[in-house]
Amino acid sequence: MAQGLHLRDVTQYYLDGDQRTTALNHVSLSVLPGEFVAVIGPSGSGKSTFLSVAGALLQPTEGEIEINGKSYSKATDRELSQIRLKEIGFIMQTSNLVPYLNALQQLLVVKKMSGRITSADKVFASKLLEELGLGDKLSRYPEELSGGERQRVAIARAFMNDPQVILADEPTASLDTARSHEVTSLIAQEVKARKKAAVMVTHDERMLTYVDKVYRMEDGVLSQVAEPAVG
Ligand code: ADP
Repeated sequence: MAQGLHLRDVTQYYLDGDQRTTALNHVSLSVLPGEFVAVIGPSGSGKSTFLSVAGALLQPTEGEIEINGKSYSKATDRELSQIRLKEIGFIMQTSNLVPYLNALQQLLVVKKMSGRITSADKVFASKLLEELGLGDKLSRYPEELSGGERQRVAIARAFMNDPQVILADEPTASLDTARSHEVTSLIAQEVKARKKAAVMVTHDERMLTYVDKVYRMEDGVLSQVAEPAVG
């Protein structure tokens, strides 16, 4: 059984009138537990489509996607939403925190969606926030946190359900340089410590120092960059 995230020969076409766009063209990628990879590439090259497919938001036209040996290429919409809830942690460009919940509650709400909150969940949520340097901010509301702190809460939230896969979509897009380094190094730290298969789409080449491998998307074709542009 192949552990981690695996895409095999994934192709995605979009039909727009009688025009067909090939957003993903026979994309194959394996990300093992504890591996952190980056996907770079110009606008319109297929990165968002790739994240939608890997994140079980979109069933590709062709190809196979597997998490820890379980294929979800033929999953129903209901099964896909369960996969998103249990197997995948998303980190987006902005933290998207709920304004009226404090940092601890931002994490616990994830558990509430999949059942009830136990005391072990509260301990785990506090531990995650501590690991992300927010141990003294558990009861702070989003407006009381800085941009970098809010994004760190969002990172902790992505790990809350103990998913197999972490997908980050331009996680540093709204942060300054120092906060960008801080946030990306924390993602790398958690990915390694918790053995997640993680993919980060980024435009920021300075963040490539934190990843194990760099892939480039161009016109829907994904290929590994031989020498990462390490800054
Ligand atoms: P990126 O995230 O790298 O900017 P996208 O995955 O958004 O790239 O887009 C890849 C290609 O697919 C582009 O040519 C885009 O115009 C096209 N595309 C994306 N989404 C749709 C859609 N829902 N319908 C039609 N074409 C789309």
